[in-house]
Amino acid sequence: MNRYEPVTDDVLTVLKSVRENHFPELQGAEILCVFDTKKKVTKGKLELASIAAVDEMKKFLTMDDALNGEGYDYIIRIDKLAWHYGTTENRVRLLRHELRHTNVLSETLKPWKLRGHTIEDFQSEIRLNSENVQWAMDLAIMTLAAHEQNEGSDS
Ligand SMILES: [Zn+2]
Repeated sequence: MNRYEPVTDDVLTVLKSVRENHFPELQGAEILCVFDTKKKVTKGKLELASIAAVDEMKKFLTMDDALNGEGYDYIIRIDKLAWHYGTTENRVRLLRHELRHTNVLSETLKPWKLRGHTIEDFQSEIRLNSENVQWAMDLAIMTLAAHEQNEGSDS
C-alpha cells in the first residue's frame, strides 16, 4: 500500500482560504496536497508538513490531474495524523507556514520557486501565531504519540 493518500475536502477548503487571505501572488499556481500516513523525521524532528516545487518530470506526470492541464507546480505533504489531531487554527497555521516557503518569480517562465526560512517570514508567522507560540511543538508531540500507537497495532 502506498504511504500517500488523497486529502479530504477540508484540506482544500483551508488551503483555499489561506491562499486568498495571505498569498494573492499564488493565484495561478497549481497546488497538490497529499496525506502522508507515515511519519517523516528530519534531524530528529517530526515534519508535520512540507512543500516541494514540482520538477518538470513530475509536472508532466500530473498533467492530466491538474486543472490547468499543465501539471502541478507545488506539492504539499501533510502528516495525516497531524491534520487529524490539529485544531482548526493549527490547520491554518500548518498550511500558511508551508505557503510561506513559496517564492514566486513572476515575469519568468518558471515562476514557482521555494525559499528557506528567513527572519522576515518567521516574524510574520510569529506575529500571527502570537497567542500560541508552542502550537507546532504541541501538535508534534501529539502526532508522534499517535504514530507510535499505530505502529504498535500494525504488527
Ligand atoms: Zn518551514
